[in-house]
Amino acid sequence: MSINKKAFSLGNKRSVIREIFEYSKLRAKEIGKDKVYDFSLGNPSVKPPKEVTKTICKLLKKEDATLLHGYTSAQGALNVRKTIAQNIHLRFNTKLNQNNISMTCGAAASLTISLKALFNKGDECIVFAPFFTEYRVFVENAGGKIVISKPQEETFQINLKDFESKITRKTKAVIINSPNTPSGVVYTEQTIKSVCKILNKKSKEYNKPIYLISDEPYRELVYDGIEVPYIMNYYKNSLVCYSYSKALSLPGERIGYIAVNPKMEKSKETYLAVCGAGRSLGYVCAPSLFQQVIKNCINAKVDINIYKQNRDILYNNLTKMGYQCVKPDGAFYLFVKALEKDAYAFFEKAKKHELLVVPCDDFGVKGYVRIAYCVDKKRIVNSLPAFEKLIKEYKK
Ligand code: PLP
Repeated sequence: MSINKKAFSLGNKRSVIREIFEYSKLRAKEIGKDKVYDFSLGNPSVKPPKEVTKTICKLLKKEDATLLHGYTSAQGALNVRKTIAQNIHLRFNTKLNQNNISMTCGAAASLTISLKALFNKGDECIVFAPFFTEYRVFVENAGGKIVISKPQEETFQINLKDFESKITRKTKAVIINSPNTPSGVVYTEQTIKSVCKILNKKSKEYNKPIYLISDEPYRELVYDGIEVPYIMNYYKNSLVCYSYSKALSLPGERIGYIAVNPKMEKSKETYLAVCGAGRSLGYVCAPSLFQQVIKNCINAKVDINIYKQNRDILYNNLTKMGYQCVKPDGAFYLFVKALEKDAYAFFEKAKKHELLVVPCDDFGVKGYVRIAYCVDKKRIVNSLPAFEKLIKEYKK
């Protein structure tokens, strides 16, 4: 084959989530949309804030076309980067400025660019299981190798002993994702402090920086007043990969940013490497209209009570029926123990009840499924009898 084999195999085999989502569309045509309980995709069901929609209309009427639809600076418009940096400083007291921010097309681009900026061939990247499956694709694309750190059973917090044992001379970076996909777990401040302590110790031992990349598309989706520690305040060699996909329900608009910690060793050089990696990957000039939308709606928020209600209905009912899962503090996923060892076999049985959940072996933990509850409340309520029938089938 003359084309790139790796690219072909990625394009030829869809992710398990996409497979299920495609199946759900076909099945809906056969039996009707309301009879298929699709919990596969993390597509926000809550509308973007009104302020966002109004701003889009206002900008389209008022602003000139070049500002809205023309190229911006490769790393993003200056007024947008300034506003974001000021906002981060106000919220988390980090002395960021516009020269630490690079606008990107969502968290996926932020991660791809950051990894490309940091990695040389053969470098290792530690990820905490369960983890977003695309990390493997992004790390390998940057020439790196993924190393999986096992979680603490039951809580899905980080297993610090296992983490420390996975760090080697080859470790270039660690990706941390809290609130987490697929568990919904938020890592505690104590956990973050311990992770950073280990990283500082190992960086010293190997006499080189080990970078901490914080993947934060779910930062704003937390319930019951839980705080998500801001990584830059705990570890200097850190980058934040942020996205408005879930925070403002704008996943199709592809907008986010990378923030490079100004306290990092050689922070300026790292920022330039980020700009260079964006350039080499063709990710210059994130969507201009949405850069300006973000500037104008910097404090806008989606109504997370809708997700919280969904979480409570699903968690309370499923656990009452006998399903096992940790109560998620954030994001919009429930990570449920399959009722048999093989999560794929469980998925097939659930499918017979029109319940479409995602088997999570590829997320680095076997025997679990992910339920995305970013759906209409009606779908959750209507699916409950099917969950009940499914567990009864296992109890027989
Ligand atoms: N990181 C995690 C943990 C995710 O769950 C997702 C999307 O679901 C992404 C990154 C990619 O986000 P974006 O749509 O902003 O590229």
